[in-house]
Amino acid sequence: MKVLKFGGTSVGSAGRMQKLLDIINPQERQIVVLSAMSGTTNNLVEIGQAYLVNDKAKAANLVAALKDKYEIVIKDLLKKPETFEQGKGVIDYHFKLLSSFANDLFTPIEDKIILAQGELLSTALYHIYLKEIGVPSVLLPALAFMKTDEDNEPVVDHITTHLNPLLDKHPDVNLFITQGFICRNAFGEIDNLRRGGSDYTASLIGAGIRSEEVQIWTDIDGMHNNDPRIVNNTKPIAQLSFDEAAELAYFGAKILHPQSVFPAQKYKIPVRLLNTMDPQAAGTLITNTSEKDKIKSIAAKDGITAIKIQSSRMLLAHGFLRRVFEVFERYRTSIDMITTSEVAVSLTIDDTTYLGEITAELGKFGSVEIDVNHTIICVVGDFGAEKHGYAARVLEAIKHVPVRMISYGGSDHNMSVLVKTEEKVEVLRSLHSRLF
Ligand code: ASP
Ligand code: MG
Repeated sequence: MKVLKFGGTSVGSAGRMQKLLDIINPQERQIVVLSAMSGTTNNLVEIGQAYLVNDKAKAANLVAALKDKYEIVIKDLLKKPETFEQGKGVIDYHFKLLSSFANDLFTPIEDKIILAQGELLSTALYHIYLKEIGVPSVLLPALAFMKTDEDNEPVVDHITTHLNPLLDKHPDVNLFITQGFICRNAFGEIDNLRRGGSDYTASLIGAGIRSEEVQIWTDIDGMHNNDPRIVNNTKPIAQLSFDEAAELAYFGAKILHPQSVFPAQKYKIPVRLLNTMDPQAAGTLITNTSEKDKIKSIAAKDGITAIKIQSSRMLLAHGFLRRVFEVFERYRTSIDMITTSEVAVSLTIDDTTYLGEITAELGKFGSVEIDVNHTIICVVGDFGAEKHGYAARVLEAIKHVPVRMISYGGSDHNMSVLVKTEEKVEVLRSLHSRLF
């Protein structure tokens, strides 16, 4: 059984929803995971923010504006009076709920209930549409099987034990529709897998039911070997290993939610990235196998801050790095790149919320220098057992650009360099023309 996930733009209008059946084959038994219609989750975030600051008038206006959009959607989507009425009922129910928080003391729990409405709406409306055109389908409530534990980690076994019985109840139905993104947390409250989490849902379901394949349908033809907005002649990557995909998903390639690689990798479920606008295009296939000795892709991540801590106390001392890392842990700030010398360590972060506090605490260990506006450029591929020549090729290609940090050998799949963001375009183009 395959799992197909369609993102916000793929369900972004009535017309787009109607076109999904060009891709979904109702003769095949499969689970279809839908995101909220594009823009909806952002709107819901705004609604939550308005309630949070107790701006009831603003919240009411935002809810009304979003409802208007959905009224138009059902007019275009549902042509029979009976199904139209059902669609109307769905909209009335969800928007009444969205309006209801004006009288409450607003809490994060309510905020998450608000965020969940987008996926509940898109799946319910699509399910009614399928009914209208006579395609049998079952709407599966993700909240009945998608669960996170005390550490906010999704529980794959819970999916296996709770989703399989739901599927078994309908041996004659091929098409199962469910919500991406939403889940219940360890307290049983409605929660979510964080922004962009519908990919993660698809991969988790794939793992939970040991699916033959997970397909992520978006609006580009797979992962490209460089940033198509900056470099000409980029190409979709036909095949990636899970390790390579994990490196790329983190480094800005927004096409796949970074965490979604792991459940698929653990249960060896192939993941295909495909293009709704061009369903015949090959896209990118992510599997356990890696093509040996091959550079696959170049990716960049902006907004990086480098921090250098220099201290003679580091020399021959043990425990120094632990103390440095503990500072970042206390401020829940994750570190991306690290390089060390005998008397100094440089590392990078992308979240500068606590930079002031972090700098002050690190100051106790030695002198601290901060460099803002940097970009990590990473080259991903299978560098082979010998790892021979790759670093030289990368550095040769960018020898005319000042490099702040280099990271190589952390895995067999990644070499990263840190440069000033103003050098990014030059670095991406130069690497592209020399490595491919
Ligand atoms: N609708 C959610 C979001 O916009 C989840 C997703 O689309 O993947 O983040
Ligand atoms: Mg997405």
